[in-house]
Amino acid sequence: MTQDQQLARKPGTPPPSLYAKREPVFNRRIDGRFRRIKWAVMALCLAVYWVTPWLRWDRGAYAPDQAVLIDLAHRRFYMFGIEIWPHEFYFVAGLLIMAGIGLFLVTSAVGRAWCGYACPQTVWTDLFQHVDRLIDGDRNQRFRLYKAPWGPSKIARRLVKWTIYLAISFATGGAWIFYFADAPTLQRAFWTGTADPVAYATVAVLTATTFVLGGFMREQVCIYMCPWPRIQTAMTDEKSLTVTYKDWRGEPRGSLKKALKAPDAFGDCIDCNQCVAVCPTGIDIREGAQVGCITCALCIDACDRVMKDVGRPRGLIDYATLEDAQAEKAGKPPTPHLKLIWRPRTIAYFLAWSGIGLGLLFLLGARVHTEVTVAKDRNPPFIVMSDGSIRNAYTLRLRNMQARPRRMEIVVEGLPGAVMWTGDTARQQASARLLRMVPADATQPLRVYVVAPSGTRARDFAFTVQAVGEPGEADRSAATFDTPEG
Ligand code: SF4
Ligand code: SF4
Repeated sequence: MTQDQQLARKPGTPPPSLYAKREPVFNRRIDGRFRRIKWAVMALCLAVYWVTPWLRWDRGAYAPDQAVLIDLAHRRFYMFGIEIWPHEFYFVAGLLIMAGIGLFLVTSAVGRAWCGYACPQTVWTDLFQHVDRLIDGDRNQRFRLYKAPWGPSKIARRLVKWTIYLAISFATGGAWIFYFADAPTLQRAFWTGTADPVAYATVAVLTATTFVLGGFMREQVCIYMCPWPRIQTAMTDEKSLTVTYKDWRGEPRGSLKKALKAPDAFGDCIDCNQCVAVCPTGIDIREGAQVGCITCALCIDACDRVMKDVGRPRGLIDYATLEDAQAEKAGKPPTPHLKLIWRPRTIAYFLAWSGIGLGLLFLLGARVHTEVTVAKDRNPPFIVMSDGSIRNAYTLRLRNMQARPRRMEIVVEGLPGAVMWTGDTARQQASARLLRMVPADATQPLRVYVVAPSGTRARDFAFTVQAVGEPGEADRSAATFDTPEG
């Protein structure tokens, strides 16, 4: 029932049900250029997901050698040569913002290409649909099996198919945990039953969700559960490329037989339904843009093949913008797709995306791997020593962000005559500078006492920390020195 029909229902009649029973989709196999792109993207996504945790990256003896690792226990994120500390979370935030703007960019340029090609739900649904074909056959055989009563053959096929679903789902859930710990070690622990219970629970939950969402819910996730189609709908405009049925060319539709009898009475669409048969979400693109269309373009492959077979030009279903479709309808030639993609909105998104990317790269290149923070003792703020000098106490936190131990020199700046010693040394060893070995990839707290000569007035000063023999590897932290004179 269309929305108009619903609105026009007679007074007193009950409203239509808000629940639509799922109609299973038995999409036909198709080959074509977009299908080949989908194969390539699927292979790439699956390979990246499954292979990445097993890649190694030598960071020396003091850091893990897993190329990509989210080390929650030690609060680090490793990505090849980059190590992100918790206080550098802005890098992760920047990457997330880039991912968001990247999606805006792709959507405004080529519509829902993310949904159609790279979204995990699409990739795994596609994989499961190929399993369906492998076990049950193509569209018609699957449909016949679906309608057939339960018997030994149907039960056997279902068991085989669901076992393969389960194996893929388990491999999916299983791979996820390897991003959070050393993959070979965790794998051994997992199979010997000694891994953390959280690992088993994570695998169980992800296996179950993959099995249900990819195996059985499929297009329901895209149409009813995912918010992204609604957001994307708001982001596309009349200049966004999307899969379009060129009704001015296809209508009125009629079978080839009828069209051959009266060529002038029919458009190019021979109503063969091939575009519907290959659609993974089971929709008819000839009814116009719909939220169920994930822009996978398989209907373009199907229709192009039909047009070739009947000797008509390809592109009855094609990528087009609404604006271009109107122009084409009025008899103008279609604008090249590349020209359609480069417009102010996509350029603005691209500039924002690349600007953030360059900014992050600059910050990565410019960051130092040495840091110091200072916390001053407040109670007491100072102590007057027997010789009249004044002592303040501080806790320094020396951060060595390199995967090797480093010697660091600590100096007091802006406090004339001051000397210092640490909590584990005697005052007799006090000096204007301290040397400290800081372990690899660690933050070391250090208790420091600073003594200034009698008569010193309260003032601001700074601790500077310099990695010995590494020019540029230094940091500075401001502090205050309290005295009785105020
Ligand atoms: S209508 Fe075409 S582009 Fe849209 S989901 Fe179906 S096959 Fe893919
Ligand atoms: S595949 Fe092309 S010709 Fe066949 S029904 Fe779809 S639009 Fe018409």
